[in-house]
Amino acid sequence: MFALANKIAIVTGASSGIGCATAKLFAEEGARVVLAARRQAELEQLVAEIGEADGTAIALAGDVRDEAYAKALVDLAIEKFGGLDIAFNNVGAVGPMGPISDLSLKGWRETLDTNLTSAFLGAKYQVPAMVERGGGSLIFTSTFVGHTVGMPGMTSYAASKAGLIGLTQTLAAEYGAKGVRVNALVPGGTDTPASVINAPDAGPEVVAFVEGLHALKRMARPEEIARAALFLASDASSFTTGSALFADGGISITRT
Ligand code: NAP
Repeated sequence: MFALANKIAIVTGASSGIGCATAKLFAEEGARVVLAARRQAELEQLVAEIGEADGTAIALAGDVRDEAYAKALVDLAIEKFGGLDIAFNNVGAVGPMGPISDLSLKGWRETLDTNLTSAFLGAKYQVPAMVERGGGSLIFTSTFVGHTVGMPGMTSYAASKAGLIGLTQTLAAEYGAKGVRVNALVPGGTDTPASVINAPDAGPEVVAFVEGLHALKRMARPEEIARAALFLASDASSFTTGSALFADGGISITRT
């Protein structure tokens, strides 16, 4: 029995990292998936890969900061697959880092737009489509940064990601009676192209430092975060809403 049989999902940030792994897992578990990100070639490659594994996916490239794109993704899910049950709003970027006196308003706004306003725009069109189906599961990728851990130099990232927790709680309260569950996912450090350990100047000491922040003394593979997203997407989490689910390797509770 597939966990997402007959479900229709949107996955944003599907061209890389956590989103890519989650799109594959959702398709393996029977969902028909709409893939979103800016890079068309990467999305098309993933459509082909999912198809070769007997899954079903279509791609629409665009920028999640664009309201027309948020609407177009939902329209596509309805037009091609007949509706929308799951939305994994996963796009995120760290943006400019540094002491607040060095940060520009432009950089702050870009980070807030990419991480938080995109989630608002996604939800604005996804929720009515889910209500139309009698319910659904909305998931936002947050982080420990700004939620359980303060990290110097990451003000805009932390503020935008903490904002997702407020969005999650409010939407969960607003739409619970209509069968829409809304949850945030809180990954720990995950080995993706965006990770600090994959920065060009990151040496083994950076990797060891980041790994050591976690109780498990290692980073996550994207597939491990995808499994937590699958839990939130599927009926296995049927009584879970308004939560922030930690899949963080214990980084939030570790002090050594
Ligand atoms: P990643 O590999 O860099 O993937 C980010 C994805 O977002 C890419 O598919 C990128 O695709 C897409 N994207 C970025 N800006 C976009 C925009 N304006 N419009 C459309 N798509 C956009 O990063 P990741 O590590 O998988 O991160 C996924 C999520 O997990 C993020 O929200 C991140 O904050 C969160 N997170 C990551 C970690 C970690 O350690 N990696 C830890 C906690 C939370 P295109 O470039 O093709 O647009």
